[in-house]
Amino acid sequence: MTDAPIFAPDAWGLTEKQARLTEIARTLAAETFAPRAAEYDREAKFPTENYRDMAKAGLLGICVPESEGGWGADLKTYMLTAAEIGRYCGATALTFNMHVSSCLWTGALLDGLDLPKEVREEHHAKRKLHYDRIVRQGKIYAQPFSEGGAAAAGFKAFGTTALKVEGGWRINGKKIFASLSGHADYYGALCTALDHPDEDPSRRNTMYIAVPAEAEGVEVVGEWDPLGMRGTVSRTLLFKDVFVPDEAQLMPRGVYPEAASRWPHMFMTLTPTYMGIAQAVYDFTVKYLRGEAPGTPPVKRRMYPTKQLAVAEMRVKLEQTKALWFAAISEARPDPSKDSLMRAWAAQHTVMENANALSALAIRTCGGQSMLRSLPLERLYRDSRCGSLMLPWTAELCLDMLGKAALYERGETDAD
Ligand SMILES: Cc1cc2nc3c(=O)[nH]c(=O)nc-3n(C[C@H](O)[C@H](O)[C@H](O)COP(=O)(O)OP(=O)(O)OC[C@H]3O[C@@H](n4cnc5c(N)ncnc54)[C@H](O)[C@@H]3O)c2cc1C
Repeated sequence: MTDAPIFAPDAWGLTEKQARLTEIARTLAAETFAPRAAEYDREAKFPTENYRDMAKAGLLGICVPESEGGWGADLKTYMLTAAEIGRYCGATALTFNMHVSSCLWTGALLDGLDLPKEVREEHHAKRKLHYDRIVRQGKIYAQPFSEGGAAAAGFKAFGTTALKVEGGWRINGKKIFASLSGHADYYGALCTALDHPDEDPSRRNTMYIAVPAEAEGVEVVGEWDPLGMRGTVSRTLLFKDVFVPDEAQLMPRGVYPEAASRWPHMFMTLTPTYMGIAQAVYDFTVKYLRGEAPGTPPVKRRMYPTKQLAVAEMRVKLEQTKALWFAAISEARPDPSKDSLMRAWAAQHTVMENANALSALAIRTCGGQSMLRSLPLERLYRDSRCGSLMLPWTAELCLDMLGKAALYERGETDAD
């Protein structure tokens, strides 16, 4: 029997496009990605076959504007769709997020900012090239931002640099945890633009640029044998004197810092994967306790009051998570109010922590046999642990920002 949508279109007031895309994603992921998920996890193997299927279904261009041949999905529509993928394969949803972000940041997000006319025109001409690759050639983009220091947390300039040279840029640096490494066609990297090699790096000069995987000087190094999200293949990327032409810029120079500060909900795009996982562990628990989980004997456990209570507790947590997340993604817009921003941090924290709390509760409730590697629950449990670690809105940083924002107004200090 097909699973019901996470967010039923009628009950949650989805648009026609949202209903259509979530249906496409749910059907594809349930029928095709779910059966492949265990192997990608066991072998820490990139879900190449899933990407082929997503290309065929038109999902790679989900956030490419309609005028450029894509679905033109906005942030909320993308998030709802990706949650259905995360429900059946976390690694596919998380890497899909890196790919889609390259279109969201350059598309809906920048279109929502009042950029000067000439900057917008230049940007539209360049992004056409990227969108064309995605929609017509099925190319995949990664999003390597992290460097292991404070830059990905938003506190420092990126150590990866792009030096202006004749006709383009010379890229040097190192990115860690680069999901899709060795599998993406382009790495959409954040780096610091420099006009001279001896210039001091500044966050104001952050640049978003697409480095072709095949370019000379690009190298993927290191092992990838982590606890969870193993299919993301997030190895280390090295850029050594890599030349990329001017048109590789995914955003006009200097625009990224403005976009990131005015569109903070963009950092929530890591959550749908974990919203999907939260739903998946609940679904599994219900089926398991009813004796209906595929691959398990038809033993019913639903008659025990302790299990009923635990599943009720899970349902409460799931509903809380869904409601807060839906509210936060529904109000995503440029220049949100302080209240709305605080709700986004609270939603991010809730989804990431509750996905893991629900997984732990599911294992405790279902019992010993449920954690065998032949069943998906132990993978969901390991994958769910990764959500809180994702910069820049880790669970810790969300609490840090929430606490400060609750107690201080802008500019207030305790100096006197
Ligand atoms: C499965 C998986 C896939 C990933 N894929 C990608 C990807 O595709 N692209 C990408 O860019 N990243 C990706 N990441 C990386 C992720 O976002 C983090 O950057 C990474 O986990 C950082 O690891 P770390 O040990 O350096 O973290 P941390 O040590 O937690 O953080 C790094 C730095 O951030 C600052 N910081 C962190 N917490 C605080 C705090 N509470 N207060 C003040 N400063 C703080 C500090 O300077 C710290 O040294 C992925 C991570 C995982 C787990």
